Amino acid sequence: PVPTVLTVARDTLKAMPSVLRVALPVPLPTLFDYLPPATGTVGVGSRVLVPFGRSKSVGVVVQADVPAQVGSAKLKRVLRALDDTALLDAELMQTLAWAADYWLGAPGEAYTNALPLLLREDKPLPETQEPIWQLTIAGHSALDAGSRRGGSRVLLQTLLAGPMSTAELDTVLPDWRAAGRRLAEAGLIERGEASPSPNFFPNTPKLALHAEQEAAVAAVTEAFGRFQPFLLDGVTGSGKTEVYLSLIERTLAQGRQALLLVPEIGLAPQTVRRLRERLGVPVEVLHSNLAEGERARAWLRMRSGEAKVVLGTRSAVFTPLPQAGLIIVDEEHDGAYKQQEGFRYHARDLALVRGRALQVPVLLGSATPSLESLANAEAGRYRAVHLRSRPAATQPPQVQIIDMRAQRLEHGLSPALLHAVGETVARGEQVLVFRNRRGYAPVLLCHSCGWHAECPRCEHPLTLHAAWRKLVCHHCDLQAPMPSSCPVCGSQELKPQGQGTERLEEALTAHFQHVPVLRIDRETTRRRDAFEQLLGNLADDAPAILVGTQMLAKGHDLPNLTLVAIVGVDEGLLSVDFRASERLAQLVVQVAGRAGRARKPGRVLLQTHHPDHPLLRTLLTQGYAAAAKDLLVERKQTGLPPYGHQVLLRCEAHQRAAVDAFLSEACAALPMTDALQIAGPMPAPMPLRAGRQRGQLLIESASRRDLHAAARPWSVQLAHLPNARKVRWSLDVDPIDL
Ligand code: ADP
Ligand code: ZN
Ligand code: ZN
Repeated sequence: PVPTVLTVARDTLKAMPSVLRVALPVPLPTLFDYLPPATGTVGVGSRVLVPFGRSKSVGVVVQADVPAQVGSAKLKRVLRALDDTALLDAELMQTLAWAADYWLGAPGEAYTNALPLLLREDKPLPETQEPIWQLTIAGHSALDAGSRRGGSRVLLQTLLAGPMSTAELDTVLPDWRAAGRRLAEAGLIERGEASPSPNFFPNTPKLALHAEQEAAVAAVTEAFGRFQPFLLDGVTGSGKTEVYLSLIERTLAQGRQALLLVPEIGLAPQTVRRLRERLGVPVEVLHSNLAEGERARAWLRMRSGEAKVVLGTRSAVFTPLPQAGLIIVDEEHDGAYKQQEGFRYHARDLALVRGRALQVPVLLGSATPSLESLANAEAGRYRAVHLRSRPAATQPPQVQIIDMRAQRLEHGLSPALLHAVGETVARGEQVLVFRNRRGYAPVLLCHSCGWHAECPRCEHPLTLHAAWRKLVCHHCDLQAPMPSSCPVCGSQELKPQGQGTERLEEALTAHFQHVPVLRIDRETTRRRDAFEQLLGNLADDAPAILVGTQMLAKGHDLPNLTLVAIVGVDEGLLSVDFRASERLAQLVVQVAGRAGRARKPGRVLLQTHHPDHPLLRTLLTQGYAAAAKDLLVERKQTGLPPYGHQVLLRCEAHQRAAVDAFLSEACAALPMTDALQIAGPMPAPMPLRAGRQRGQLLIESASRRDLHAAARPWSVQLAHLPNARKVRWSLDVDPIDL
């Protein structure tokens, strides 16, 4: 995968010194040659400290002992090897080389992406066991004598309960470190031996799997030891998680490791608890909210084989799995698996590549599989296994459309919907009102002259956030005070148009005064664990109304939730993005699946101005599978993914002229063949964002091979185009939003 820039004549090759080819964290389509360090040898997969420009950089050795591509005069020497043995094993190195090539990323970014931040630094590897802190005898006496005050005293008191790890202290006493240093110097506390990881005993009884679950488990177990992708297509609440648990148990029984990917950290806490309770082994967790030390340790424990199970979000797909047994991707349809900046990889697709390299089965699970995975299953590349029944629920929820046309709406809520909410809470049950828009109203309009508040940097309406008395741009985060009168005509008649979750919360609170109304969106869950806590406050047996965005669409069993009211999905029906229908269908089905997960039957209301829309009709009368089938037929007819393949070149700059110039150069540089179709250069769907002009060029082909054959050399050329330095550009292979 080395983009060789120079061609070297054969006879000079012999004279070339042998070098290390190193991936460095820079967005350039190239690797860098260095002479090996003065002493010792360095192998592939190890980290090295090298001089780079005027400073130093940590890189990963991709090739060792290869002839240099430049004369020795220009070569610099590795300053130091950071690892005795490879940090990234042969499989990961091979997978990363494949990934950099496939997603046309800068190889350096691909390799560094795979390492936790702490391991990208010139520091010794952290101990995999976390240090713990405990009171010394002197510390006990000091505490009794009351000789310490303030932070020191609090820390002593905290440790009186028993030794605590650094991470635990970080959680309970975020500012403990200064006091810790003082007390350690005074000999009042000391670093202790980390106790062997606590014994976990499984304490939840195993459920007897039902027949469909048994069949799924048997199918995957039979494929242990070889690569086989499975699509576990199971309605919400059908017991997919139980299937994962059972399979991970079997993986552990064979002494092998399991990787479970989830799309969001929000899903992690509940799943971690369920895994720990059931499996009786420590479960490593890897996600972006974790302290860097903890991330690095979890990664290293999997690498050493000390740890057997890892649960994580997107980047956890890079965890070393020296004893791999099974890879699971939960909610495989979720867009969060696609990285949208830097190295633009897709974690689900990478999981499959790793599964092949590691020779293990890969299980993709979803109630609403992506069209890509459905097409793969249909083509026989994946084996489909189905879970059609819901073990815990009495019946599948009933879905009903509310036609909003010609209705008197109260803050966007129809009388029928309000009536149903009233009935539900009167029975002591809970309601979820789903609206995928934060804030009070998406538009603030002047009733006298028609002016509306717009972001000057994006030319998009600003969202009104009433509680903050602010207008906020949801595209660039620009904030402006809420005007009291129209800046154009001076009128005071400024009217919020449309509804966001904040407004619905207000309307429902006013309408149902004796029922708690809980809003769950990015604003109310900003703090770590806030999501968990908010839902934790919900009594299982009391009425409540939840208002929220798609954060509420998944995870979290709420047994007393019996009504789901979906308001405002019409934007999704009208969008120009060809994936909008798929996403809408998935969202509706996932949200609807929140209702009636326990013994009580559930009901779903969908409020729309387009009650006859074919997608909604099919979805409600025949379900997701039928809707997906229709969408696949459309995609096939139009040659769109998964039947066609795309590479998108995005470009932005302050000047439109620079964008246009770069895109035309890029277009001209593309070797045209009959296999390629080109759309553009054209403005991006949001032509202006955060003050930058944006444009794009879309390349499509029915053949992935032809597309890559053209795009691969082109991607290296782009950086050298005359206008490349005047713009920001990026390539996206298999983009998920155009
Ligand atoms: P999914 O992940 O498909 O949404 P879960 O695995 O969370 O579904 O299961 C949904 C509910 O059904 C959970 O409350 C779970 O405990 C219960 N459940 C799953 N499998 C069984 C089973 N075999 N017997 C009884 N209850 C089950
Ligand atoms: Zn006005
Ligand atoms: Zn903006």
